[in-house]
Amino acid sequence: MAIDLVTRREWGARSPRGAYGRLTSTRGVKVHYTGGQVSPDIVNDHDKCVALVRSIQNHHMDGNGWMDVGYSMLVCPHRKVFEGRGPNRVPAANGSGLNSAHYAVLGLVGSSGLTQPNDDLLHGILDAVEYLRDKGGAGREIKGHRDGYSTSCPGEALYAWVRRGAPRPGGGGGPADPPPAFPGRTLAYPPLMSGEDVRTWQRRMRERGWNIDVDGLYGPGSREVCRTFQREKGLPVTGAVDRATWNAAWEAPVT
Ligand SMILES: [Zn+2]
Ligand SMILES: [Zn+2]
Repeated sequence: MAIDLVTRREWGARSPRGAYGRLTSTRGVKVHYTGGQVSPDIVNDHDKCVALVRSIQNHHMDGNGWMDVGYSMLVCPHRKVFEGRGPNRVPAANGSGLNSAHYAVLGLVGSSGLTQPNDDLLHGILDAVEYLRDKGGAGREIKGHRDGYSTSCPGEALYAWVRRGAPRPGGGGGPADPPPAFPGRTLAYPPLMSGEDVRTWQRRMRERGWNIDVDGLYGPGSREVCRTFQREKGLPVTGAVDRATWNAAWEAPVT
């Protein structure tokens, strides 16, 4: 499903008060929550999400004295992704000195009231992450604000999800799910191999954040991703997807 983007114009954003710092790439994305009370009513009324996003921008500009809302993107429980500073711009919300390494994505849950992210919110966060990868050169990391910074953010529920590798809800092949059965042949190049098994592995690697074409063709690009993955996971670096490498794609933590 394509990202359901709410543009700044659509949510009535104020204009920024200055020029953004530029970014061409980051190591990845950090996930945030609001840290305060979020009314459970927003789940039944998207207009309240819009009002909340506006109030967050006001707080950042008038309370914190920032030039704009601090987040790159903001996500509500209706799987809508609000454009914050957007891709290629330095966010403000990760903490001093930490903003050029990760984009900042807010999930609209808080420390009281609405504290549990629903599936649509989690999908929305991943839609935002993919968008930032495509448009803003975001790398593979998905971390919580508290990684490397002293804060409760993004709260217990969102952080637990991040620690599980930020899987797509509902059988999207998260680390908690059993891997699909090893296809019984090792995927290798050369020569070029094709098939649904190749596509399944490529799709999974893309879900894990690798820059890989999901075309069902195992060629030099797939081999390079495989090698780097094997090195990262301490597997024999063969560039071929054998049973151990296949299973690790579903079972090994995303780091
Ligand atoms: Zn935060
Ligand atoms: Zn909403």
